[in-house]
Formats: sequence, structure tokens, C-alpha cells
Amino acid sequence: MSEDKSLNFLEEIIESDIAAGVNNGRVHTRFPPEPNGYLHIGHASSICLNFGLAKKYNGLCNLRFDDTNPSTEETEYVESIKADVKWLGFEWANELYASDYFEQLYLFAVQLIDKGLAYIDDSTPDEMAAQKGDIGKPGVESFYRNRGIEENKQLFADMRAGKYPDGAKVLRAKIDMEHPNLLLRDPIIYRIKHAHHHRTGDQWCIYPMYDFAHGQSDSIEQITHSICTLEFIHHRPLYDWFIEQLNIFPSHQYEFARRSVSYMITSKRKLLQLVNENHVSGWDDPRMPTISGMRRRGYPAAAVRQFCDMIGVAKRENLVDIGVLEFCVREQLNKTAHRVMAVLNPVKIILTNYEAGRTENLVADNNTEDESSGTRSISFSRELYIERDDFMEEPPKKFFRLAPRLSVRLKHAYIITCNEVIKDADGNITELHCNYNPDSKSGNDTSGIHVKGVIHWVNAADAVPAQVRMYNRLFTVDDPANAEGDFKEHIAPNSMEINNAALVEKSLLNATSGEQFQFMRKGYFCVDRESSSVQLIFNQTVGLKDTFAKEMKK
Ligand code: ATP
Ligand code: MG
Repeated sequence: MSEDKSLNFLEEIIESDIAAGVNNGRVHTRFPPEPNGYLHIGHASSICLNFGLAKKYNGLCNLRFDDTNPSTEETEYVESIKADVKWLGFEWANELYASDYFEQLYLFAVQLIDKGLAYIDDSTPDEMAAQKGDIGKPGVESFYRNRGIEENKQLFADMRAGKYPDGAKVLRAKIDMEHPNLLLRDPIIYRIKHAHHHRTGDQWCIYPMYDFAHGQSDSIEQITHSICTLEFIHHRPLYDWFIEQLNIFPSHQYEFARRSVSYMITSKRKLLQLVNENHVSGWDDPRMPTISGMRRRGYPAAAVRQFCDMIGVAKRENLVDIGVLEFCVREQLNKTAHRVMAVLNPVKIILTNYEAGRTENLVADNNTEDESSGTRSISFSRELYIERDDFMEEPPKKFFRLAPRLSVRLKHAYIITCNEVIKDADGNITELHCNYNPDSKSGNDTSGIHVKGVIHWVNAADAVPAQVRMYNRLFTVDDPANAEGDFKEHIAPNSMEINNAALVEKSLLNATSGEQFQFMRKGYFCVDRESSSVQLIFNQTVGLKDTFAKEMKK
């Protein structure tokens, strides 16, 4: 077994269990999402953890839908969750649903009744809340607590049979109304809810509570290490109590800290509000911290995995800098994305000494970081476009791009010098007239001229118009969920800017949805799923500048 000192606390537990022969060294985890929304970056961390541990220890990981609450769950969410887990690169051993265990869970409840460990309570929610007591203040027993076993069994069967309206009765575990842990003061384990369930339809009108379903589901699946977030730490004694009383497979629960990332929201409920109230275009809006949003934005799955591994697991909650995630995105895309030329805000240049009607095909590397990526041909002719801000009429010192009488290299092509600035009646620059140096061709430069600046360009004759969607942070504060007021008060007013003026090189005409590119000097971009050959659409994935790496070097 590994002696690695940098094992995280879960790996330490697992390795010591394996060493001690617990469960014959078997490791079986599960990822248990409630299908009530799309998964977000926090879930990605839980997925990487659960599937990652199973993989590392030659075990298995189940995908279990925790679908015990009929009113919030939908098949659309189930499908999106499966797509997200697959996209992240993981394979589940079994696709399971807590709702598949409804009959078994019902029988577990009957077993508790039989043992005198559960009873039907007719108290109102207010009465039960009053019975509960508080920290340091013991609760009081319900009037119905000592109902006979047979009566409880009959009432429970009647509840199942639909004899009572919602809320009329509940089944409670009979534990201890003075227990220091309030969750063990006779918790509700079944409630009546006449609601349609996305899988079981109208078969059931009583549903188990989370605490009664979760641990037993783990046990049914013989999960060895049930990993969940810290808010469930106080539920663990209840988890263990049910397992002990029912005498079923002893799964164990371990808790780690929820992951939050700055400028991101990690709550499905809150993300649902953004969708329903049209603050974003949908769950997969590229500004969303959902896995599907990140995918559409162009984040590679490998970058999300790298990020989750990098932040690891912790026992205390903290806000991870979004710069760490963006660092991972850049690092992955740097290795894989083809470098292409796109001019986002074009101004025309005319090479007055270049023959009209002539076209040259130049050779461009796709990605110098990846030799196998090859080269492509790009066309060059008399009329080109460059970035408007790569020209300055009155440049400051140390401006190494284009300006009157100054020279610059066009990437993969020639050195040009600006001779004349053409303006319209309002004084706006419409064209730049330049000379090109025929001896300065990239790869075969005999001109002897040295210029400091290299700028990108596109050929006017075959450049393709494109829409480029530029994104800023969705929130103005780094921790919107905990900032003052409602989190939606902190939505940034200009988180998306649509640019319809961009021109991209011809090779992008056939780029397909999801393809990722580096627009040289501009950042990483990917083809949006709404893109077509009639209207090319790109999403800005991330800029080139790496603020996080700089911070680390300080
Ligand atoms: P949400 O509040 O977004 O609905 P949740 O915890 O209720 O989150 P579940 O569908 O119950 O969502 O979560 C599935 C699994 O993912 C659980 O094991 C949960 O602990 C884990 N998880 C959820 N959010 C995070 C997070 N921010 N960081 C790490 N793990 C998380
Ligand atoms: Mg939940």
C-alpha cells in the first residue's frame, strides 16, 4: 500500500480499512445526487472524489439518484446528471434510484414498528415543533408515542393505502425525546404526500424522509464508504441508529467540507432561480457554474478534474479562488487548442504595393505545444483586417504595433509599414494604407529588418463573419451566496457582451459545436451549440492572462 504522506483523510481511512481487512478490503462508494436541478462545480468535486477513490482502490462507484421527494424531481434532471458524469469521464458501476427501494424502505419501517421503535403521530407540525425542545432543553413526548404496535401497523398501512390527506399523520422513530442531538428526538421518517413521482408515478402517497432513505440505500447497495458533505455530520448518529436497529449492512458515513468557488453559486435551488427568472438563458448558459454551463463555455473536462484534484478535500469550508479553476482551464487548452486568427474589432488595411488579385497561401502551425497538431494553410492578399486597437495614430513610446511610419509583423506573413490613414467625414479611421516588405516572409525572412511587434490579421477576401460572446463574472461580489441581501442583488449588469463585428479566418467555417480554439492574442474560445455555417457563434472561454499564476509567483 502507498506510503504517500500526502494522502487525504479519506484515503487514510480507506487504506487503514483495507489494511485491517474491513469488508474484505472492498471499496464501494456512490455519488447520490437529488435530481432537482443541474449539477454544479461543487458536485463536480464530489463526483471526482467518489469516482476517483473507487478507481484508486480498485473499487466501484454507484450513481444513485436520491429521488425521495416527488415534488421537485424531474426526468430532465436525471438525464442531465448522467450526461455530466459521463462528460467528466467517469463510469458508474450501477445506475440506481432510491425510489427503487420504496418497498424495501416501507418494510424497514414496518420492522421498526414491530420492534416498538416507531409510531404514528397525529400531532400537527406546530405541536411537533413544540415537543422538540431545544439545545439544552429536553423535548416532551408526543401524546401518540405509546400507541400499540398493532394499531401503528394498521395506521401505517392505511397511510400507504391513501386513507389520509397530506400532513394528517406521520411515522416517527421512537428514540429519545431528551437526546442531546435534536435529530434523534423522535425524527419523522415517513410523511403523506399525494404527489406524482417521476418514476413511481402514483404508486405511493407516502414517502420516506431523507434520513430514513439515505443510510438504508447505502446499506442495500453495500456501500463501504459513504461520503457526504459536513452539514450531515449531526445526521450520522441517526444513520448508524437505523442500521443498527434494522441489523443491516454497516455502511459508514464520512463527511468533508462543501466546496465553494468565488463568483460562483453552488446551490441548485439558487441556480434554479437564475434560470426561472431569466437572469441567464438556461442551465447551460456559459456563465453558469453548472457542469453543463462550463462545458458549453469550453472548459475541458480534464481541467475540471484537475481543479477538483488540486483543491482536494478539506474538513473546513473555504472559498476557492475562481482563478485556480481558470488556471486549470488555460493549462489544458494550452496543450490542445489550435491557434487561429480572429479579429474581434476590425479595421481594414490595404497593402498598396501588393498586386491586386494575387493570393498567397501561407503555412501556419496549429499548435506549437503539440507537434502532432500539424499545420494549415491561410490565405493572404492585398486587403486584410487587423484589430482596431493594434493601430494608434499617435502612439506612446514603446508602442510596438502599427502606427504611421511604424512597422509591425503580420503573424505567419510579412512586415508591413503604415503610410497613410484614411478617415471618413466624422474623423473615424476607415482604412490604413500600408506597404509590405516582400523579403520579410515568415520562415524565409531576408529583409534584415527587426520589428518587435507581431499582430494577427485575417484576409478580407475570405474572412468569415462571426458572433463572439464575451463573458464577465456573473456576480459583482466574490461570495454572492453570503453577501448582504439577496444573492440576486449582486448579479453583474454586463456579464455578457455580444460582438457581431468579428471576422475569423476561413478555416473556422466548418468548426463544429464544442470545438476549442485559441484566438491568438485574444484568449480561448469555443464554438457554441447554437452555431451554424450560416451564423458562426463563439463563446469566450477564458482570457490568456493568468492572474492566478502571477499571484503564486509573488
Ligand atoms: P444543492 O444545495 O446544490 O442542491 P445538495 O447537496 O442538496 O446541493 P445533492 O444532489 O444532494 O445536492 O448532492 C449530491 C452530492 O453532492 C452529495 O453527496 C453532496 O454532499 C455533494 N455536494 C453537493 N454540493 C457540494 C459542494 N458544494 N461541494 C462538494 N460536494 C457537494
Ligand atoms: Mg440535497
